[in-house]
Amino acid sequence: MSAPATTTWWCEHAWLSKGSSSGVRVVAGPDGRISDVETGVDPEPGDVRLAGLVMPGFANTHSHAFHRALRGRTHGDGGTFWTWRDRMYALADRLDPDTYRELATAVYAEMALAGITCVGEFHYLHHGAGGARYGDPNAMGLALRDAAHAAGIRLTLLDTLYLRGGIDVPLEGVQRRFDDGDAENWANRVSMLSDDPAFRVAAAVHSVRAVPADELDLVVEAAFGEDGVARPVHVHLSEQPAENAACQAAYGCSPTQLLSDHGVLGPSTTAVHATHVTPADIALLGSSRTTVCVCPTTERDLADGIGPARAMADAGAPLALGSDQHVLIDMLAEGRGLEMHERLVSGQRGRFSVAEIVDAVSPAGHAALGWPEAGRIEVGAVCDLVSLDLHSLRTAGSLPAQAPLIAAAGDVDTVIVSGRTIVSGGRHLLLEKGRSPRVAERMARAVAGAWGEP
Ligand SMILES: [Zn+2]
Repeated sequence: MSAPATTTWWCEHAWLSKGSSSGVRVVAGPDGRISDVETGVDPEPGDVRLAGLVMPGFANTHSHAFHRALRGRTHGDGGTFWTWRDRMYALADRLDPDTYRELATAVYAEMALAGITCVGEFHYLHHGAGGARYGDPNAMGLALRDAAHAAGIRLTLLDTLYLRGGIDVPLEGVQRRFDDGDAENWANRVSMLSDDPAFRVAAAVHSVRAVPADELDLVVEAAFGEDGVARPVHVHLSEQPAENAACQAAYGCSPTQLLSDHGVLGPSTTAVHATHVTPADIALLGSSRTTVCVCPTTERDLADGIGPARAMADAGAPLALGSDQHVLIDMLAEGRGLEMHERLVSGQRGRFSVAEIVDAVSPAGHAALGWPEAGRIEVGAVCDLVSLDLHSLRTAGSLPAQAPLIAAAGDVDTVIVSGRTIVSGGRHLLLEKGRSPRVAERMARAVAGAWGEP
């Protein structure tokens, strides 16, 4: 990303650490970091004005980009998580680095237009048909990196270890595309990837179903860089009761306990879903300060259930949010889902404060993706800004302090990533230039291409 010169924005309202403030001037230097924040001030000549409520850029902590091609194609005939997964595998069988780059570019552009400035891609579609290696064995991951660059957002590649189709069940069919053979081969392949200013490499364990317990220790070891700093490790956890039953049968404990016993839990680890967890699991997640990434729109679309988010937060687990299989890409909807699911379960409103929801949407997610310097409008932070229109049909008449619970992705007007404006007036400035197709048209073509349709 080319660095812009010093820029000053004047925000009608902005979400700072203590909530919404009015008349906020934000200055960013050529390094893309915020160098000054003033509140209660009038605009000055030369300021770029941002109307509405300006929030810190959103972090989408859990994404499988290719699942976007299942939207509107898996909703007609009922089914279960497992029948949905059959369609997902049929799609995974078709993709190659070129079709995946096209699809992911459109998906990440949709994210940019929704105010997402950083995404964590939980990536396991590594190899070609039957597990054949591409010339560059990281061709698929690099296609994702290139897609995020084109869309102008930062990406953490959560390169995923995936070795089994179930506990003691070999990978078969399309699953062989996920297979690195063992954790050592996986670590060697991942070590060939390098960070850049908008791209960071991290690790993931698909689940305790897909990785034998005796391979987990090497993942934890590999997550420590040469500098001794731990990179993020993400893992799907107890999304379905069947995973708990299989783990109990094979290892005599819950998936959370198994991860804990192998040193996987901790402040640089993120457990995704944690839907079906016990009080003992909640205590382990909380006391280890493991982040829990909840994915409300996916969890209800796949009939997963509702996890104990409030209890996990109270136990000490930071909460983050992800759009996961992308039935919707709208982090405000994910944040609202966190609260609304709790309301349905508890019979109470206000289970999470607006500030807690914003924390999950922005700083907690960025930290979980290895970008702790992002997600806040404060001096020293990466300058990621998202302005929400407070005069749309959805938001008109709302108080700015409550807008995060009311607004939707369609209310995003301007998006700034590291001081660079990538969306303005709801238009993607990098991809919707001149006669370029709109992102929606690009998406339709990419989805058709992914399915091999004319
Ligand atoms: Zn997932």
